[in-house]
Amino acid sequence: MSLVTNGIKENRVAAITLGCKLNYAETSTIIDMLAEEGWLPVDIDDGAELIIVHTCAVTGQAEQKSRQQIRKIIRKNPGSRIAVIGCYAQLDPERLAVIDGVSIVLGTIDKFDISFYTGEYKSEKSGAIVRVSPVRDLHNTAIPGSSMLCRPEKGRTRAFLKIQDGCSYGCSYCTIPNIRGRSRSVPLDLVLARAARIAEAGYREIVLTGVNIGDYRDAGVNFASLLKRLEEIEISRIRIGSVEPDLLDDEVISAVASSKKIMPHFHLPLQSGSDAVLKSMGRHYDTATYRKRFMRAVEAISGCGIGADVMTGYPGEGEREFDEMYRFLEALPAAYLHVFTCSVRPGTALSRQVAGRELRTVPHAEVASRASKLAALARNMELNFASSFVGKRLRVLFEERTGRADGTISWGGYSENYLRVDVGLDAGVISDGMRGAVHEVLVEGIGEDLHLQGRLLS
Ligand code: SF4
Repeated sequence: MSLVTNGIKENRVAAITLGCKLNYAETSTIIDMLAEEGWLPVDIDDGAELIIVHTCAVTGQAEQKSRQQIRKIIRKNPGSRIAVIGCYAQLDPERLAVIDGVSIVLGTIDKFDISFYTGEYKSEKSGAIVRVSPVRDLHNTAIPGSSMLCRPEKGRTRAFLKIQDGCSYGCSYCTIPNIRGRSRSVPLDLVLARAARIAEAGYREIVLTGVNIGDYRDAGVNFASLLKRLEEIEISRIRIGSVEPDLLDDEVISAVASSKKIMPHFHLPLQSGSDAVLKSMGRHYDTATYRKRFMRAVEAISGCGIGADVMTGYPGEGEREFDEMYRFLEALPAAYLHVFTCSVRPGTALSRQVAGRELRTVPHAEVASRASKLAALARNMELNFASSFVGKRLRVLFEERTGRADGTISWGGYSENYLRVDVGLDAGVISDGMRGAVHEVLVEGIGEDLHLQGRLLS
């Protein structure tokens, strides 16, 4: 029977994750490792003795959001121990350690030793325990943190699987290599073992994640061969996270085209549609290569959905470069766009170029106007792509139940090519079995929210 003091339950752990799919995959692993040590995972409002905040530092806004989340958690859980981990902790540990109520600050690799710092470890110094290994230590270290325990998480049908970490690309605006080190891959046998555990835990879809997953290589096994090996896992769906365009080669495209399990969907970060800006960013492709790879996938894989990240306001992006990007995107049959504005991050090549006046920043008002033009274009592109499936059949993995104003029930999920699809069911219909089920749907229309509306066929 666990002790309860001031509403705080001993040996209970909860976590909140900010940022990317990789952070979510790592949080699951960390909680699994703690559960193997006897901690009981609970929800964030269950009075856990230990609360983990997994931070993000990809932009200035992400850092601010992390600080706000930390303070909110501390206010709501005065008796809990708060551990702040991950990218922001790696980048600026001291700033987080001085937040009143923070007990532990752990960097990119140290976070996997959390059970040590929450156990018998006693810090000589007062205040928060701070453990942040220098990035140079990351470069050649094996990727820490693996657990063969894999708990099904309530209401989740999809699990993130970390296959790679770090990046050796060095894009001028990016701070991730400063936080996560150079590219390293999780050994193949560990990837396959964890994937099998995820399938046994009842998840229906695995999402492959990392920083630069297309750069996967272990003992002669590259990304395309890894995809083929994952076919042996007893699971319905395998989804690829984000792939760098120059790594979406013919081998990867044909591995997906010939697979029944790997979903016909790619997230292909473009960043800019201007060759001059791509060059300035240090990206590994130009617009011609991007379009060639994109169209090769669309032609080879039926119904393939490809989404892209685009960034505007990059220092040196003039009106001509922005127009080039806009016209490039207009001609791209993308399924969706994620639009970002450039954030000049400390410690990056870009921050040095701006400080050295080699590149001029774009005025905020101009950045805002460009971002809203791209957002309007993004909506049209998404509408065009989604509308092309009206009247067609899609296989949908259902994950979310919502009540409608007219009293009927709506179940929502994602198609294989990552379109959001909702189906309505009469209130009386027993539908608990819908969560985690894959059903064929006839698409009948598209809603204001650009969700496809359909009817269950099977
Ligand atoms: S590919 Fe570029 S943007 Fe992406 S993580 Fe690597 S350095 Fe950063």
